[in-house]
Amino acid sequence: MKITDIRTAVVEANYDWTFTRVYTDEEITGLGESFLAPGLTGIIEDLKPLLVGEDPRNVDKLWSKMRWAASGAGSMGGVVYNAISGIEAALWDVVGKHYGAPIHRLLGGKYRDRVRIYADCHAGEALEALNSVMLARRPRWLPENAEEQTVIASEINHPVHGRAYGDASDDEVFTPEMYASRAREVVERGFTALKFDLDVPNPYTRDTHSGTLTHAEVRFMASLVEAVREAVGDTIDIAFDCHWRYNVSDAQRLAYELEPYGLMWLEDPVPPENIEAMRRVTQSTKTPISSGENYYMRYGFRESLENGALDIIAPDLQKTGGLLEGRKIADMADAHYVAVAPHCIASPVGTIASAHVAAAVPNFLALEWHGMSVPFWEDMVTGLDGPVIQDGHVRVPEAPGLGVELNEEVAREYAREGEPFFGE
Ligand code: MG
Repeated sequence: MKITDIRTAVVEANYDWTFTRVYTDEEITGLGESFLAPGLTGIIEDLKPLLVGEDPRNVDKLWSKMRWAASGAGSMGGVVYNAISGIEAALWDVVGKHYGAPIHRLLGGKYRDRVRIYADCHAGEALEALNSVMLARRPRWLPENAEEQTVIASEINHPVHGRAYGDASDDEVFTPEMYASRAREVVERGFTALKFDLDVPNPYTRDTHSGTLTHAEVRFMASLVEAVREAVGDTIDIAFDCHWRYNVSDAQRLAYELEPYGLMWLEDPVPPENIEAMRRVTQSTKTPISSGENYYMRYGFRESLENGALDIIAPDLQKTGGLLEGRKIADMADAHYVAVAPHCIASPVGTIASAHVAAAVPNFLALEWHGMSVPFWEDMVTGLDGPVIQDGHVRVPEAPGLGVELNEEVAREYAREGEPFFGE
């Protein structure tokens, strides 16, 4: 069996869903998804000559071959790994189809039939649709009349995940009532785990660049958390994300103030580069601290795990190095009795690929779903006998490989202009 071609397509959703298809000489193709990045499809195209002519069943060897080839561009991480992750996942789809086995069986078999989803919730009115450098944009699929009731994110025109919320142009307002009401809505849809952003515009912010928090800011943030906890009660798990914004002492103060609300986790309270700083926050509080969407491969997680810097890790399987690498990271975390809650902003393709890994590792906590605002999220794949997400869970497919195919009609409708569509 030989790889004959590799092609890509990009769908413009809330993020750029970047798909890779691997073609073989046996009429089997495999589909994978990568986390968005500038120039991503060009990188995948550059990697293609390394793989054409190779046996796709040697997934780990091919992964190493791509890794060594990328050593100049980034041996420890970077966007080449986003590309490698999508290709690797597509290889597993090929291998699964070839042997008639679902991907989770190739990764060791499953601990669970259903993978618990945590829903990423946005309490505000503004649409979150971001390009590859996190600039907000107005997607083509937003209804024309949405402008009246929706703050169009493209008018904000600053990086949404940069440190500086609260620019003069950012007039979005968040209240505890909005958080409570969104939380109730999402629980009614069947989810048992929710995540909200906590670093939203705050009426008491004095300086958006310093990484500091005033007492009033911390109290306002605690009021958002309290509102969600009161709205959902004690049987729903809630997590909050800070997107790497704060200094160590203010992150510690925030985590302490949130202790009464029993969070599933507080995510990225400090920037991800300094493991010792993260460890100081984690060790100071009963609030579980999570991070990991910025780390690549098991090497990127080693130091945090060995030093007790994180309570929960959140590798992104469309970015960190792929599905088998996800299994290896989870196993390393398991040796430290640390749970894994994979980060995921993917279409159903990447989400289901992540669910295969989540099913196959013991120490799984919950898998992210970031597609609530995308009207065609569920329509992007075919091959299941019901919705991808039901009652807050993904049923792990039993069909060979990934278990779903891309719905090309829908993908083509929302395809990103200027990008190839599987070679067309
Ligand atoms: Mg996050």
